[in-house]
Amino acid sequence: MFTFHSIRSRLTVTFLAIIAAVMMITSLFLYNQLERYFIKSMVDSLTRSGYEAAINVAGLLRDQTGTVADSGKLSAYAESVSRLAGARIIFVNREGIVIADSVRVGGRLGQILGQEEIDAALAGEVGSSILVSEQSGQLVLQVAVPILEEGSDPIGAVFLSASMQEIYGGEQGQGILERVRNYLLLATLIAAAVVGGGSVILARRFSGPLEVLTGAARRMGEGELNQRIEVSSKDEIGHLAEQFNIMAARLNYYTSNLRHFASNVSHELRTPLTSLSLITKSMKDYDMEPEQQKEFLEDMDRELDRLIALVNDLLELTKLQEGEQRHDTICLVELVENTASKLKPRFEQYHIRLIMELPPRPVYVSGSFLQLSQALRNLLDNALKYTPAGGWVRVSMQLLKEAVEVKVEDSGCGIPEKDLPNIFERFYRVDQARSREMGGTGLGLAIVKETILAHGGKIWAESREGEGSTFYFKLPLQESINYN
Ligand code: ADP
Repeated sequence: MFTFHSIRSRLTVTFLAIIAAVMMITSLFLYNQLERYFIKSMVDSLTRSGYEAAINVAGLLRDQTGTVADSGKLSAYAESVSRLAGARIIFVNREGIVIADSVRVGGRLGQILGQEEIDAALAGEVGSSILVSEQSGQLVLQVAVPILEEGSDPIGAVFLSASMQEIYGGEQGQGILERVRNYLLLATLIAAAVVGGGSVILARRFSGPLEVLTGAARRMGEGELNQRIEVSSKDEIGHLAEQFNIMAARLNYYTSNLRHFASNVSHELRTPLTSLSLITKSMKDYDMEPEQQKEFLEDMDRELDRLIALVNDLLELTKLQEGEQRHDTICLVELVENTASKLKPRFEQYHIRLIMELPPRPVYVSGSFLQLSQALRNLLDNALKYTPAGGWVRVSMQLLKEAVEVKVEDSGCGIPEKDLPNIFERFYRVDQARSREMGGTGLGLAIVKETILAHGGKIWAESREGEGSTFYFKLPLQESINYN
């Protein structure tokens, strides 16, 4: 469709306007230069012929003292020069009286011509002018040159007048300049056609991919997120299409992730809510002994604790993903000691040895004490949960060049190889029943991972089923502190 608001039409109109302007300026300049050139050539040619004739007639004129004697001979000569020069030739004496005219019949013999050019020639200069002939209505070039004799003032003048129809055209056909004008017009039209066609093709090449992009963006807006555009060019539009594909793929990924997450959350919420509903219904519908009622209330309490833990974890994850980050200077050694000391009684309760191997001096990182302490607590909680009584858990720290690496090892059940790559995913559990039974929400490691990533760090795990697991995380050291 050709609307003036489309790139195609704007490009075409702009290109046409530019080419029209360029051609017009060039044509005017060229026409002007050619006109000057042709006029100058004609003036030069007439001047040359005039001077040649002047030399030849100088001797004859010397003998004539203001008379028209011998004018027959002079006029015959004027006639022959006229044929060669293609101009009317008139000789005048120093008084300005015509003493010979190449036009015999109706000539100006014996008359005084009041032409300015003749006055100039009699003053020793070359005179020239262009005027419109009264008889033919055509442009005529008039030139007068002095007839000189050595050591004296001009003794007469040669007056030449020629039609300019060869240049400007007339009854006998087109002049050179008319032809030039026509050629320039034709060239302008051809250039406009070529540029017009070219700009339509060019604009189609530009606007075609943009229309495809617009269509894909519109479909995305309507909810079809799996859009992909074929990228064939390497120019700006190609890059735009590439970025569009990346954006579409990300959006698609996040949306399906969100859907997946929402369905996981609903699923996680359904289990405790169903239990709570069953318990309440039973308590409402059946008469129970106080003993049994207490048992039911304890179940309710446990399910509610699970719900609260789940909601708290979800809130924690959302907060982390919102990306608000504190930048306090934290001593990681102190943080580990502090977190571990709070958990120590539980380790003792389950007869698991908690070993600490920490550097004897402070190690500083930047971030949030609360978040990092919660992350470490999750790792230690897991180690405690998945390690049988009599086992051990070791927390150690190693200083690297620009980072610090923390290791949480346990002698627990370990993680099967196939599950290891997925354990940091939200709601991923190796053993669903066991995790729930231990009060796990399936979000612990996801929170740890988000926390470490938000602090510019890295987290990974190694494990052997039946032998134990090791969780590593690395955090950048606080830059301003020199450890050497
Ligand atoms: P959960 O709340 O179920 O513990 P997490 O996200 O903390 O959820 O852990 C995900 C899963 O990874 C757990 O269900 C468990 O199967 C496995 N896991 C985590 N830490 C350990 C560990 N130290 N030893 C063995 N398995 C672990």
